[in-house]
Amino acid sequence: MVGITSFGAYIPRLRLDRMAIFQSMGWFAPATVMVAQGERSMCNWDEDSLTMAVAASRDCLAGVDKTTLDGLYLASTTLPFADRQNAGIVATALNLKSDILASDFTASQKAGTGALIAALDAVKAGDRRQVLVAAADRREAKAAYFYEMWFGDGAASLCVGSDNVIAEFLGSHAVSYDFVDHYRASGKTYDYMWEERWARDEGYAKIIPEAVNGLLKKLNIGMDAVDHLVFPCFFKAEHRKIARLLGADQEKVADNLHEVCGETGAAHSLVMLCQTLERARPGDRILVAGFGQGCNVLYFKVTDRIADRPARTGVSGCLKQKKTIDNYPKFLKFRNLIQTEMGIRAEAPTQTAMTALWRKRQMLLGLVGGYCETCGTPQFPKTDICVNPACGAMHTQIDYEFADQPAVIKTFTADLLAVSVDPPHCYGMVQFDGGGRMMADFTDCTMDDLKVGLPMRMVFRKRSEDPERGFVNYFWKATPLPGARALMNRIRFDGQVAVVTGAGGGLGRVYALELAQRGAQVVVNDFGGARDGSGDGSASPADRVVAEIQAAGGRAAANYDNVATAEGGENIIRTAVEAFGGVDIVINNAGILRDKSFTKMEPENWDAVMAVHLNGAFHVTRPAFALMKERGYGRVVMTTSAAGLYGNFGQANYSAAKMALVGLMNTLKLEGAKYDIRVNTVAPLAASRLTEDILPPDMFARMKPELVAPLVVYLCSDRCQETGAIFNAGMGYVNRAAFMTGPGTVVGDDMAPPTPELIHQHWDAINAMEGAKELPDLTSALMDLMAPAPQNEAARTTVEPSPDAALNVAAVFEKMPAAFIADAAAGIDVVFQYCISGPEGGDWAVAVKDRTCTVTKGLAEKATCTLRIRDADFVRLISGELPAMQAYTSGKLKIEGDIMKSQLIEKLFSMKA
Ligand code: NAD
Repeated sequence: MVGITSFGAYIPRLRLDRMAIFQSMGWFAPATVMVAQGERSMCNWDEDSLTMAVAASRDCLAGVDKTTLDGLYLASTTLPFADRQNAGIVATALNLKSDILASDFTASQKAGTGALIAALDAVKAGDRRQVLVAAADRREAKAAYFYEMWFGDGAASLCVGSDNVIAEFLGSHAVSYDFVDHYRASGKTYDYMWEERWARDEGYAKIIPEAVNGLLKKLNIGMDAVDHLVFPCFFKAEHRKIARLLGADQEKVADNLHEVCGETGAAHSLVMLCQTLERARPGDRILVAGFGQGCNVLYFKVTDRIADRPARTGVSGCLKQKKTIDNYPKFLKFRNLIQTEMGIRAEAPTQTAMTALWRKRQMLLGLVGGYCETCGTPQFPKTDICVNPACGAMHTQIDYEFADQPAVIKTFTADLLAVSVDPPHCYGMVQFDGGGRMMADFTDCTMDDLKVGLPMRMVFRKRSEDPERGFVNYFWKATPLPGARALMNRIRFDGQVAVVTGAGGGLGRVYALELAQRGAQVVVNDFGGARDGSGDGSASPADRVVAEIQAAGGRAAANYDNVATAEGGENIIRTAVEAFGGVDIVINNAGILRDKSFTKMEPENWDAVMAVHLNGAFHVTRPAFALMKERGYGRVVMTTSAAGLYGNFGQANYSAAKMALVGLMNTLKLEGAKYDIRVNTVAPLAASRLTEDILPPDMFARMKPELVAPLVVYLCSDRCQETGAIFNAGMGYVNRAAFMTGPGTVVGDDMAPPTPELIHQHWDAINAMEGAKELPDLTSALMDLMAPAPQNEAARTTVEPSPDAALNVAAVFEKMPAAFIADAAAGIDVVFQYCISGPEGGDWAVAVKDRTCTVTKGLAEKATCTLRIRDADFVRLISGELPAMQAYTSGKLKIEGDIMKSQLIEKLFSMKA
């Protein structure tokens, strides 16, 4: 079987809003408004047909063994060299072997489909094994012309061979006429166009149907044997009309990409074909036509292999990765359509030494450096002596391709003084992930996009032009990876080890996959029992998930132990230590269900659920916690349930076990705090075997575990500083659940204990949740009991004050100088500030200095300590009825400032006397 074996595409990142052209030039050419919708693709200043062909071919070659290529056909009408083989430059840039046939196909818009037919014929004839066909165009049009709106820049690339065919070639047909709807004379920049109406009616509308019908007849099929009809035509109405003429429904007709890209010249049929292949399903039949001085038509049938192709950017990816501009003068400058003063620095000689270019062609065009076979150090450029100071071996370097190596920015600058078509000129040092670094120009970015550590990739671009001699120099530049900023910000687990219990299916499997995908080494634990925990267990669930992780390039180890036993828990953690050297993350996820209404619940159902959920979390977390403490880092996630948090009929055992995990978290968060061990709890809601018969089917379908995993993965990350919190998560909705403690009220104390009647009397205040707060630990709860806020003491008024309290507060302070024991005050200098609350309260300051005592009403300027107490309690305290220590520990007396000095009061005053 012969056909297409791979495909790729490239559309430049920049898009020009067509309305921006009209806004600048509409005064001159008002009719262009008719086609000023959407946007057209435009090359950056350093892009041309060759650089685009290289980019599309790299996309196409993902997963292709380059050594199998023995042909490269390049199609374009805008090749930079009229006599220097352009395909040869592309082949060198792609580092293809030298014994291939490289050919340029040009001088017609159907050059792309022509090259494709030639390649398919060559493979079919057995002359070639695998041929790479690349087509690209960057056509120019004069300003304010319809064609400036219609044209776009872009490229496509297809591999053609007989192994791993994704679209079988079933035939082709061609008609050739010297039909001159437009032409471009040698050496001219712009096309000369004949009247559009004529091109439409006599050209597109007659020649395309003739060629298509010719092929259908040849193959003895009708339009019903075509699922996708692909042909370019930038006249919108004509595009539809031709499809109608051919008897094709509109759904079959491939979009001509006018709104999002524009027509990409000789590449366009193949760009549209690539987009069709990106969406095609096995069995789909595609008919593709290329128009220009006749018409080429090809017919393909998509095979099952279409599903196995490796990921690529393709047309759809390029259309997403765009930057739209409305700066029309920039478009003109980038295409050299206006002249600007570039300064005298731009006059530096630019002649290229062909001798050096030949000697260094692999380095300059192919970005090939060296790799030391002695120490394994990659370096750019390749030299005789290894750059590694610890090695320094001579003549040990083999070729090493840097073009596809991921890199990051090490240093960068944005230079406003350097000559640049698009200032400032951004450049810097890039560090390749596999080793090696180089100084590189940056492209397709602005200064604001750059950041040290930003992930970059290398792209083949024009470096400089020598207009005097008509020579273009190419080299490799660095550009931010699409979404690089987001990538930098991505939560990663590189070097960390995660243990996920019950990860053989349901939620645990998704947690494990996501953690591994983000760099964690994962222990996939699963006992493999039945939903109710019964059975002898099975290795297959854990093994399947490990295989999934490994197939995606991740690292994982399986463990089949039962979490419900201490031995099982220890084995699970031992697996992590032995396979990966430690444990940083534990997700206690394993779970079973044994639902029964309470009176029917036998003790074994209670015990089994407790054993897996509660004991399981204990057995696994305990050995892990010890390792985390040693390391000073850890993240633990418990799995509770809404059934535990809020209750659910028939799940008494499950609810109790799930709620107990919250209690376990509450204490572990305290014990782990000092060691940066953070413990949180998730209450998930997701479709799994545990919920399949509990949830209604429509809800079940909407509850993917993938919608819960992001929260859990975040809780496992070092970016999560939260600890001791509970989160509900399901169907993409996440919220926090917490235990809140109401403000309550004081209804008595040890001197006047409350009665049930008093409790009843104050029930509303006791039960109220307004102003409730979350308490971090038991101590805080105790503190609140010991020292309730004054506003929560409303009920205390029911504790009868001493009958004469009201009368005596002021009197106490009047009597104070008399009660002062001067001899005890030698060398003492203190001010006691009393702030007495209650109806008879007020502020009094008692100053003791050099055996003297002065009492003043009001607030002292500077107090040694401030004592706050209610009027009735104050009277009881002074009268000796309420011991000072008891007043303090019960919270009735609050002391601020120097608490030690407050103890002098008892020594300095004798009120009883
Ligand atoms: P699931 O049945 O798909 O996954 C649980 C996994 O735990 C199973 O693969 C099972 O083999 C494994 N397992 C059971 N007992 C084990 C043991 N003793 N040792 C090791 N592995 C064991 O169910 P799921 O819905 O993915 O549940 C995951 C967790 O989430 C459970 O703790 C569950 O209680 C909890 N949860 C789930 C939901 C939900 O909506 N799915 C709701 C609330 C709580």
